[in-house]
Amino acid sequence: MEAEFVRWLRDHVPRHPRQRIGLGDDAALIGCSQNANVVVTTDLLTDGVDYHIATDDPRRIGRKALAANLSDIAAMAARPVAAFVSIAFPRQPTAAGTPLELAIALYEGLLPLAAEYDVAIAGGDTNSYDGPLVISVTLLGEVTDRGPLTRCGGKPSDWLLVTGSLGGTILGHSFDFTPRIREALMLHERYELHAGMDLSDGLALDCSRLAAESSCGALIFTDQVPVAKAAHELAAREVVLNNEHATALRHALGDGEDFELLLAAPPDAAAAMLRDQPLECGITHVGELISDSGLWQQTETGQRQPLEPIGWLH
Ligand SMILES: [Mg+2]
Repeated sequence: MEAEFVRWLRDHVPRHPRQRIGLGDDAALIGCSQNANVVVTTDLLTDGVDYHIATDDPRRIGRKALAANLSDIAAMAARPVAAFVSIAFPRQPTAAGTPLELAIALYEGLLPLAAEYDVAIAGGDTNSYDGPLVISVTLLGEVTDRGPLTRCGGKPSDWLLVTGSLGGTILGHSFDFTPRIREALMLHERYELHAGMDLSDGLALDCSRLAAESSCGALIFTDQVPVAKAAHELAAREVVLNNEHATALRHALGDGEDFELLLAAPPDAAAAMLRDQPLECGITHVGELISDSGLWQQTETGQRQPLEPIGWLH
């Protein structure tokens, strides 16, 4: 299978101008802008944990493998450059067909996204074994002259903002999300941002992480959280299915894989972003960084209470 797959790759994976040499060498040679700092991120997606090969379309799985990494590059407000894709294939046929058919389908999901974000597929490795499908993508990005956006630059009284809406991602968004590369680059260019990250494990948990890295606490205005339609759907559905009520808000606070941006910005810059609303996906004021450590919520009545940092723990 592997020789055949390599032939397929040579025919279908375009050579990007960033690739200074072709695929025949021992390592890739990638052109970077003069003096650019490079950010590197990697993600490991395993069958049964991040997707289910028995039920999920392998094209969506391939897309997600790259998209999750793009989201991490967006979190740093960097520009994606080159991806390295390593896959361990199950030796036995799966719901997606033979190992070769599975391999091709994964790439059919991944390649359009790489083209859309101008990412070179510059290398990788494949192997077959008696085990579940595992995909690992490593993605390089270039920091702009505004520097990287990190989690540690937040200050007490910064406003916390999120892009898009949150929760209920299991209904489809966890595969079909748009990595916020363009949004992050644009906001970082136009406004003063102190800190940022992407929301992969749930707003409450990720907020507590950003706050801790910035040596602050975080206060979330629970009535301001932009709750996704899917979170409402899921909340309604679960009442029927499990007789157990997780509210839509709880989904918005604790569901993982939103892949939206969480940003901390000084109040005047944050107010300008909210006024301008420069993003199609929207941007919402969900809280602020505070000097008291820990995670807090402010309810509609203005009371401050501790908030459990619910979310997805790996
Ligand atoms: Mg991340």
